[in-house]
Amino acid sequence: MAVSRTQGALFGTEWTTGELNHLAALVGGSDESVTDRDQLAVTYPVTGDEIADIPLLGQADVEHAVERSRAAASEWQALSPADRAAILDRFAALVEDNREELLDLIQLETGKARQHAVEEFIDVPMTANYYAEQGPALLADEKRAGALPVITRTEVMYDPVGVVGVISPWNYPFNLSMTDLLPALMAGNGVVIKPDKKTPFVALRLVELLVQAGVPEDVCIVVTGEGPVVGSALVDAVDYITFTGSSETGRIVAEQAGRNLIDCSMELGGKNPMVVLEDADIDVAARGAVQGCFTNAGQLCLSMERIYVVDDIFEEFLEAFVAETERLTLGGDFDYTADVGSLIDDAQLERVATHVEDARERGATVHTGGQKRPDIGPCFYEPTILTDVSADSLPACEETFGPVVRVEPVDSVDAGIEAANDSEYGLNASVWTGDRDRGHEVARQIASGTVCVNDAYAVGWAALDAPMGGVGDSGIGRRHGPEGLKRYVEPKTIASSALGPMNAPPAVPNSVFARGIMRSTQLLRKVNKRIRNLSITFVRKS
Ligand code: NAD
Repeated sequence: MAVSRTQGALFGTEWTTGELNHLAALVGGSDESVTDRDQLAVTYPVTGDEIADIPLLGQADVEHAVERSRAAASEWQALSPADRAAILDRFAALVEDNREELLDLIQLETGKARQHAVEEFIDVPMTANYYAEQGPALLADEKRAGALPVITRTEVMYDPVGVVGVISPWNYPFNLSMTDLLPALMAGNGVVIKPDKKTPFVALRLVELLVQAGVPEDVCIVVTGEGPVVGSALVDAVDYITFTGSSETGRIVAEQAGRNLIDCSMELGGKNPMVVLEDADIDVAARGAVQGCFTNAGQLCLSMERIYVVDDIFEEFLEAFVAETERLTLGGDFDYTADVGSLIDDAQLERVATHVEDARERGATVHTGGQKRPDIGPCFYEPTILTDVSADSLPACEETFGPVVRVEPVDSVDAGIEAANDSEYGLNASVWTGDRDRGHEVARQIASGTVCVNDAYAVGWAALDAPMGGVGDSGIGRRHGPEGLKRYVEPKTIASSALGPMNAPPAVPNSVFARGIMRSTQLLRKVNKRIRNLSITFVRKS
């Protein structure tokens, strides 16, 4: 079925091809004509129909975009942090004002269920408000202890790094473009963003709203095209790169950033474990597992792909989990009727199907799911629960990134912790128990950037004041919280001396000065130690 390219709403949304073409024309920045570049069709995953084209930029286009962003950013940097914060607050309000059209656009380019579009939608205004609130204090100059008391003065200031490159994936294009961009903007940087070629339109629309909120034109620019061409050119042109995607590509990008001696943050893949303790509420844990495994059809970096359940409750948990999963409905409508949407494309569908087939051939039991659903759309796959998955099968060895989970019994909590830690990844984990304190205790023993107790991922992701990121193959660096902003600044130290150079004055022999300076630093260390001990005693007593 061909889609009308002339006028009229697309698939029951308010969006028309004309409007998407308008967004595509924003690629590369203002007044930048890239319309003569080769074009790539973007499709609506639920039907496989083409919805609009985007230009495939080359290296020179990306370099030009970074130059434009750098030039435009000087006006942006000159604003006070409080003024930049006010613009981020306006942006948050504009996003809220345009909620329904934005939800439609997220669904149109990802094929996800509306409730999952909502999850990523709410993150953006919350992040904008968070950094607007915290940014001015985090960016304020600080006084630090100097080399010598009274005689010296030491200040630290936080300059923007320059232009930040944001490379984002297709699974959460709305919040993964903004969650790293907004703190970079707050810090006074220019930003050039490269969304995945399958999902470029939400980023373009959000940049349009940023301009409407008051960010000067070209401070934020979207570049589109092939990852190895456009992404790689971006890493070579910017002053900092933040990448979200697979660990495989992350290694390439981090290596390139290292060669260029620029800093980077890498938010990469996961094989996230869920550990269910014997005192867990089984119905609550089963509902949590459904959310943890099948949100966005499992195409969520934080989702659970391995569940370890203490023996005593294994059968009961499995039964409840299968029953909850079988209640889910698949669909792609622009309303809240479907619980689970489409996979993004044929390649993702084949990956998921291959993982399940491989597990089946090696002896796994499929308790529910395990089938493609072409009757609903070309890329739908049923939520699938496996047991008896052999250790050498694909879903045991690799991230599936789809609606597939394996469930295993373990004979103790310690065995569950050991199994959870038996992975090269460490992005997110989840612990289920009737005793929250015990849950926190178990969480401490799991090697992961985030561990959620009695929730799969939302309670960790939505804690915007707390850092989030991965250990091991799951990444480098952290987003969210003060850490998410401080990565985008160059701390600069300014130190001065009231008595001129810290060296021997003209009439003082070097040997006398050396003895004097050694004695005074010794004395200073003793005084500092005494003060430290006194304050420890005071804290213990109070
Ligand atoms: P991907 O690595 O294939 O692509 C991610 C981005 O990198 C895309 O924009 C792509 O165009 C670009 N890219 C590809 N090759 C490049 C290169 N050589 N240089 C620079 N950029 C390049 O990942 P994907 O398939 O789009 O996303 C799925 C993966 O992302 C999964 O592994 C998932 O776990 C991970 N992910 C992680 C997080 C997180 O926060 N940790 C969030 C979402 C997704």
